[in-house]
Amino acid sequence: MIYFDNAATTKPCDEAVKAVCETLQTNWSNPSSLHGLGLKAEQALNSAREIIARALDTDSECIYFTSGATESNNLAIFSTAKTLGRHKKKIVTTAIEHPSVSQPVKHLEENGFEVVYITPNKSGEINSADIISAVDDNTCLVSCQLVNNETGYILPVAKAYKAVKRLYPKVITHCDCVQGFMKLNISASCLNADLISLSGHKIYGPKGVGALYVKKGIRVLPVNFGGGQEKGIRSGTEAVPNIAGFGAAVEAFSTSIDERYQKMVELSNYLCQQAETVEGVTVNKFSESSPYIASVTVDKIKSETLLHYLEQKGIYVSSGSACSKGKKSDVLKAFGYDDKALDSTVRLSFSYDNNKFEIDEFLKQVKNAQAELVKIN
Ligand code: PMP
Repeated sequence: MIYFDNAATTKPCDEAVKAVCETLQTNWSNPSSLHGLGLKAEQALNSAREIIARALDTDSECIYFTSGATESNNLAIFSTAKTLGRHKKKIVTTAIEHPSVSQPVKHLEENGFEVVYITPNKSGEINSADIISAVDDNTCLVSCQLVNNETGYILPVAKAYKAVKRLYPKVITHCDCVQGFMKLNISASCLNADLISLSGHKIYGPKGVGALYVKKGIRVLPVNFGGGQEKGIRSGTEAVPNIAGFGAAVEAFSTSIDERYQKMVELSNYLCQQAETVEGVTVNKFSESSPYIASVTVDKIKSETLLHYLEQKGIYVSSGSACSKGKKSDVLKAFGYDDKALDSTVRLSFSYDNNKFEIDEFLKQVKNAQAELVKIN
């Protein structure tokens, strides 16, 4: 099997699987219970909290566990709407956000907020100046992802947020860091973000767990109410096994970010070089992009057709992103892909255990697909 769909989800690493199983079997108490068993579960939570905080170069009290980045994004956006958004009704975001940002923002737009969507320019890039100039005195929130999940494009978040915070210190800056965390060398402070969303299953941890980083001094109001866990920000018994697995995955990979990045650069450069030799295949490039994600257009073959053809050969890719499930991607449209490319683009997303032979096999099978599927007019 050749698995090139790591932006959709990663295979949990052995450390994460071990931590989940051990916690399920031996540390299954409720972390809110006051007895010793509860304390042990709470210790597991806090140990994971510390590991994740260290990976963002911040304090553990800034990390709040959630069920995943979708929840973290919703919490960040709806909380801000309830705090600063009571008086300031403008939100600045981009046209290339994941639905877990674009949908909550759309909901607020339908309920009286003004939303400015920054779109990529002709080269498919977002100008930091466009983000900065869209923010004004009436803005409560700026929400931009760090790495686009469909193309790998890296947005100029740190630069934009630095200026935004200098000009409007009260505006809340939120960053969906799902495709950047543990892949790019980032810290909470270098991003200048007040709120940062993370997900466990994109970094070799379990599904159903994520976190929201909240900068000290930033007020987050809950959007769901209950037992007051996670300092009242996110009620609900914490998923201790998943959280332990998330922490174990972060710990397992936090010392190899640069090394893995370098390996991914070599892999994605190799894909670009080799793809040039195949007629009708284009790797869509941006000046700044994550080597973990490649957007590949194969002329004249519909992405879903190619996806299933490749699947039969044991190669797993995605059409657009797993979340867009077959419908034409608004995100790729915003990037300026023409109609033909929108229909014929697949996403390859890598992990540290992919290699060049797998790229060769992918391109070989693409050529076979072209020979078998493209009708000669
Ligand atoms: N944001 C981005 C950029 C993503 O790629 C994803 C996952 N596809 C999410 C948010 C949602 O993450 P989760 O699956 O943890 O809810």
